[in-house]
Amino acid sequence: MEGLESDLEDMRQYFRSGKTKDAAWRQSQLKGLLLFMKENEKDIFKALKEDLGKHHAEAYRDEIGTLRKSINFALQGLKEWMSGKAAKLPKIALLTSAELVPEPLGLVLVISSWNFPFGLSLEPLIGAIAAGNTTVLKPSDLAPACASLLANVLPTYLDNKAVKVIPGGGAVGEHLLQQKWDKILFTGSARVGRIVMSAAVKHLTPVVLELGGKCPAVVDCLSSSWDKQVAVNRIIVSKFGACAGQACIAIDYILVERRFASTLVDLMKVMIKKMFGENPRETNSVARIVNRQHFLRLKNLLSDSAVRNSIVYGGSMDEKNLFIEPTILVDPPLDAAIMAEEIFGPLLPIITLDKIEDSVTFINSRPKPLAIYAFTKNEKFRRRMVSETSSGSLVFNDAVIQYAADTLPFGGIGESGVGKYHGKFSFETFSHYKAVVRRSFLTDFWFRFPPWNDYKLSL
Ligand code: NAD
Repeated sequence: MEGLESDLEDMRQYFRSGKTKDAAWRQSQLKGLLLFMKENEKDIFKALKEDLGKHHAEAYRDEIGTLRKSINFALQGLKEWMSGKAAKLPKIALLTSAELVPEPLGLVLVISSWNFPFGLSLEPLIGAIAAGNTTVLKPSDLAPACASLLANVLPTYLDNKAVKVIPGGGAVGEHLLQQKWDKILFTGSARVGRIVMSAAVKHLTPVVLELGGKCPAVVDCLSSSWDKQVAVNRIIVSKFGACAGQACIAIDYILVERRFASTLVDLMKVMIKKMFGENPRETNSVARIVNRQHFLRLKNLLSDSAVRNSIVYGGSMDEKNLFIEPTILVDPPLDAAIMAEEIFGPLLPIITLDKIEDSVTFINSRPKPLAIYAFTKNEKFRRRMVSETSSGSLVFNDAVIQYAADTLPFGGIGESGVGKYHGKFSFETFSHYKAVVRRSFLTDFWFRFPPWNDYKLSL
């Protein structure tokens, strides 16, 4: 961290030089990001395996492939995003035109999390670069092999006067937060999110907080066997097949009508075995828990005897290999930690209700989630979910897929976050839309000028 202040001042100077505003510069940096992903693919796979035990297929789907898509989307849209947008004015504004002109903010800070170490670092960076900013990126120290690639290799593909990667943990993060930034995009816990927001107050720095929470999935009593199977396939892959449930938009718990619960559990058991084998530890298709501390946190969620008694599938743990088997619980106590805290791991409680409509009250009595999922064919219920619940995103009949859509804003509401990004929303997040108004000298209304009199007032 030595020399940080002067490094940041150099970056501000570089921004003021105007170099990063140039469209060609932005394109070259985005292409640099693409090249980094391409030329280091093997090392990225290796680092994700080392830090999180992610299978190549999962690593490609969630990080490499998704990022390539996002970079290409930004490259394609850049020119149009950068151009000003004409604004309509009232008729009284005779011979006047107006437009919204996006301008970069300056020097921005991105602090990211460990569960998708490339995606959560580079997705914001795409937006920051596309918008023409200089950026400092601090990846998480909990995925050290990935952070090392980002800190040591990524800079060789980018303009180092404009992009710096500073690896480290909480202490480094705190030190960075004391500096003056033009925007901070933070991905992580609500606890640290609050620290970020408090630090931002000093310089009135705008913040985007990408946080987490408990994302519910409501499963309606589906009657056709096809629909049931499709729903279960999607629930299992999105919960256990995406960083072992260590994802901010992973399904945290399921809400289902009591009469449908045993059918659902039976189908889920079959599908877990089909996807991950009789012994999931050996098939390498379930990622590992990031570290011992998180392993023990998850173990602790099951330590309560009432919670343990609610396990209907799985529950085995291997501390040495930081592995937790996909685990299903039915009706653990609602006041247990597993139903109060974000789970962030391969444990999936199912809560049974009398009527599926009760899920609306259940969800609304808790903090607003980052995502809500509802598997249903009931149009009336669908409309209720849309109009009566609030969340960062709401997905019917699938889960997690919204992350990859460039045309949708990604972000939370309330406890699950502030602000949004992805696709053009990332560009907008890292831009200021300046109102530019142009008047003609040709003519003017005489009554807009003093001296005021009753006649002018009566017009
Ligand atoms: P975390 O809050 O512990 O850490 C996030 C980042 O903040 C890391 O880079 C960390 O080094 C840094 N940090 C830690 N303490 C800090 C401090 N005092 N000052 C400044 N920086 C500090 O969270 P985590 O364990 O990395 O991630 C888990 C949480 O993140 C979960 O709640 C999850 O839901 C959420 N998350 C959200 C998203 C999203 O896109 N919304 C994505 C991934 C994770």
